[in-house]
Amino acid sequence: MSESGESTARLNASKSDALREAIEEYWGYDDFRPLQEAAMLSVVEERDSLVVLPTGGGKSLCYQVPALTMEGLAVVVSPLISLMKDQVDALRANGIAAAYLNSTLSWDESREVFDGMRSGALTLLYVAPERLMNSYLLEQLVKTNVSFIAIDEAHCVSMWGHDFRPQYRELKQIREVFPNIALHAYTATATEQVREDIVNQLNLSDPEILVGPFDRPNLSYSVEQINDRIQQIRSVVDRHPDESGIVYCISRKEVENVSNTLNEFGYRALPYHAGLPDDVRSANQDAFIQDQVEIIVATIAFGMGVDKPNVRYVVHAGLPKSLENYQQESGRAGRDNLEAECCLLYSEGDIFSWERILSDQPDAVRQVSMDSIRAILGYCHAYLCRHQQLVAHFGQTLEESCGHHCDVCRGDYELVEDPLVVSQKIISSVYRQDQRFGTSYTAAVLKGSRDKKVLANGHDQLSTYGLLKNESLAAIRNWINQLAAQHYLKKGGEYQLVQITESGWKVLKGELTPRLIQPRVETSAERAQRKSREVQGDAWEGVDQNLFQHLRTLRAEMAEELVLKPYMVFSDETLRGLARHRPSSQENLLQIKGVGQKKCQDYGDRVLAEIDAWCDTHELDQDVDLKQAAARPKPATKSKSANAQAKQAFELFAEGKTESQIADEMGRAISTVNGYLTSYIEQENVTDATPWVDKLIVGRIESAIDEVGCDRLKPIYEQLGEDVPYEQIRIVVACRRQREQEE
Ligand code: ADP
Ligand code: ZN
Repeated sequence: MSESGESTARLNASKSDALREAIEEYWGYDDFRPLQEAAMLSVVEERDSLVVLPTGGGKSLCYQVPALTMEGLAVVVSPLISLMKDQVDALRANGIAAAYLNSTLSWDESREVFDGMRSGALTLLYVAPERLMNSYLLEQLVKTNVSFIAIDEAHCVSMWGHDFRPQYRELKQIREVFPNIALHAYTATATEQVREDIVNQLNLSDPEILVGPFDRPNLSYSVEQINDRIQQIRSVVDRHPDESGIVYCISRKEVENVSNTLNEFGYRALPYHAGLPDDVRSANQDAFIQDQVEIIVATIAFGMGVDKPNVRYVVHAGLPKSLENYQQESGRAGRDNLEAECCLLYSEGDIFSWERILSDQPDAVRQVSMDSIRAILGYCHAYLCRHQQLVAHFGQTLEESCGHHCDVCRGDYELVEDPLVVSQKIISSVYRQDQRFGTSYTAAVLKGSRDKKVLANGHDQLSTYGLLKNESLAAIRNWINQLAAQHYLKKGGEYQLVQITESGWKVLKGELTPRLIQPRVETSAERAQRKSREVQGDAWEGVDQNLFQHLRTLRAEMAEELVLKPYMVFSDETLRGLARHRPSSQENLLQIKGVGQKKCQDYGDRVLAEIDAWCDTHELDQDVDLKQAAARPKPATKSKSANAQAKQAFELFAEGKTESQIADEMGRAISTVNGYLTSYIEQENVTDATPWVDKLIVGRIESAIDEVGCDRLKPIYEQLGEDVPYEQIRIVVACRRQREQEE
C-alpha cells in the first residue's frame, strides 16, 4: 500500500471507530449492519450517495450516526409527518438532540426549533419537502452550519416509483441553494429505473451508489392454497401468541369478515381500510402500534407510515397485487431483524376478485396489473426456494437456497413419485380436449367428474377421463399450475385456456421430465409442531419467557407514562436480552443490545428493580452469560446488593414505612422503590393499598377501576382527570389484582 493509501486507511479506521462508538453509546448496538459502515463513511467524507437497502435494513442509522460525529446540523427530508415525529421521539429517547418542523407545530414550538438551530444545540432536523423549500427556512439554513442533507424515501422523487410525490420534485433546487453540501438519498425501492431517476432528479454529483442485498434472511416465507381460510390464519396466529401481526385481505368486506371472525374466536383484532371513518382508522392503527391489540386486519391501505419494528407475522389472506407489493407488505414483518413469518394464502379465484376491483381501470393499466398478479401466481406455483425467487425478481441472485426459512426448503412438500407419468396424463388430456378449456375443467376431466359441462361435451368418453381419479381436484389443479409455472403448459387469452408449449410436447414424448410437488404426508399435529419449531428459530434461547412477558407489560406502562411508542422504550430484541441475561447492575445493563447511555440513565433503576425482584421471587440467576460478569465477581456497590436491596426494601415495607421514607433511607429513586413495592405486593399477596396511598385516593382509584377495568393504567389515569400519579395507581391496581386472584 502506498503511503497516502496507508494514511487514508488509517483515517477511515479512525472515522469508523468514531461511528462505532456513537452506535454503542447512543443506541447500545455492537456492530454495523451490511453496508451501513460504507454508507456512513460516504456521509462523513461528504460524498453524495444513494443507498438502497430493504425495509428493516437500517437506513436511518446511515445518516443519524454521522450526524453525531460531524460538526453542524444534519437536515433530513422525510415525506410523512407521523414518521417524522416517531423518528424524533426515538432519537430523543436515545439522548440525541433532534427536532422536526412541519404543519403540526404551533408557532411557539416552531420558534423553539429555530432557536435550537441558531444556537447550534440541534444535531438533526427533520423537515417535510414542501417545508424545506419555504424561503424563510432556507434563509435560516443558509446561515446555519449544515453538515449534510439526507433525503429519506427518495423514490418519492420518481414517477416510476410506487409513491411519487410532486413536492419531491422541488428538491431539485437544493443543489443550487447548497452547492457545497453533500446530498444523500435513501430508499428501499429496488428497480434500476427508479435509482437512475433519483440520481438525475436530485442532481447528485458522482454519487457513491450502495445497493444492499435484498434478501431478508430473518423472514420465513410460506405459501398455502386456501381450503379453510380462517383456520389457516389461526394456525399462523397461534404460532405467535401475544405477538403483533398483520393480516392483509383484498377487499374491505373481507377485512370486516376476517376481523369479526377472529374476535369471535377470542383473538384481539381490529380492522383497517379506507372505508372506515378517519378517526376510527387512526385509533385502530394506534391500538396496534401501542400493543393494545395483537392483530390488525387490513387492506393494502395499511402500512405506509407505520414503522412498528416488532411485527412478528404478516399473513396475506388473498393474492397480493404484484411481487413488488408482496415484498413491501410482507417486509413489514421483522424490521427489528428478529425472526418473523410471512404466509401467503391464495386461491385461484383471487384472480377474479382482482379483475373485479380493476374493472374500472383503462385497458392498458388493467392489462399490466393482471400480468403482475399472474406473476405472483407463478411465484406460488414454482415451488422453488422463496427467498431465491424473490431476490431473482429484483435482479439479484442468492447462490444458495435458504436452508429452512421457506416452506419449500423446510420440506413442507415432497416430490411426486412418478412425475413423468402424471405430467403425461395431464398434458395428453389437454391435447384431447383440443386445448380449449381452463384449469378447473381439465382437472375435472382427469378426476372423472360427473360435472354437467364435462358430460355435455362428451369428455367422459376421452381416454384421459378419470386417469387421476384417486387424486383430489385441488391436487390436480395444482399440478396443472406447476406445469404452467415450469412452462410445459401455458395459459392464454381472457379465459386462461390451457395450452401445450414446445417443451410440453417433449414431455409427451418422454424427452423431458417436469418436477412435480405435493404436500408432505404427515398428520396435522406433526405439521404444526414441526412448523412452529422451525419458525421460532433460536432467538429465544435462554430467554425466560415469563420474565419477557412481565417486562413487556412494564414497557407498555412506561410507554404510556412517557408518551412514547413501546418499541421506542425498548425493542423486542432488547427485552429478550434482558430476560435472557437478567442484568443486576447498570454496568451490565449497558451490555444488553439496545441499551445506550441515555436509556440506562433514564430507565435503568426501574428496569433493574423489576428484574431483581422477579429473579428473587422466581429464584433465577442473574448476569447470565454476560461478558465481564463471568470473568469477575459482581461489583460490590450496586449489583452485589441488588437482590439485597429488594430484600431490604421488602423489610422496610413490612415495617410499614412509606415509599419516600424508604427512598430516602436507601438512597434510591422513588420510581425504583415503587417497582419494589409492586413486587412486594405480588409476593406477599397484599390486598390493601392504604399503608401507601391516602384512603380517599384509594377510593377514587377503586371507582375508576370499576369504570374502566384494571388491565391498563392509562385509562384509569385518564378517568381520574390525570391528576393522580401513576405510582399511586400502580399500587392500588397491584392490590386489586391480588384481591381478584384470591376471589
Ligand atoms: P429502514 O429504515 O431501513 O427500514 P430502520 O432504520 O428503521 O430500517 O432500522 C430498522 C431497525 O433496525 C431499527 O429498530 C433500528 O434501530 C435497528 N438497527 C439499525 N441498525 C442497527 C444495527 N447496526 N444494529 C442493531 N440494530 C440496528
Ligand atoms: Zn428456501
